[in-house]
Amino acid sequence: MAVDSELLEILACPKCKGKLALNSSGDGIICGACRLVYPIKDDIPVMLIDEADTLGPEEPVLQKS
Ligand SMILES: [Zn+2]
Repeated sequence: MAVDSELLEILACPKCKGKLALNSSGDGIICGACRLVYPIKDDIPVMLIDEADTLGPEEPVLQKS
């Protein structure tokens, strides 16, 4: 089961405290402002800046309002 939108609502980027969006493959959480992707391991978002990947320019950011 993937991370759902309700969980995304309560999560915030640990770097900028901004809103987050699920990535297109559903295995990472994107901060569009920081251009970081936080991994999801065993359905648990790893909200650590040290664990985040840099968002590639080709990765679409799916913003949820
Ligand atoms: Zn951020």
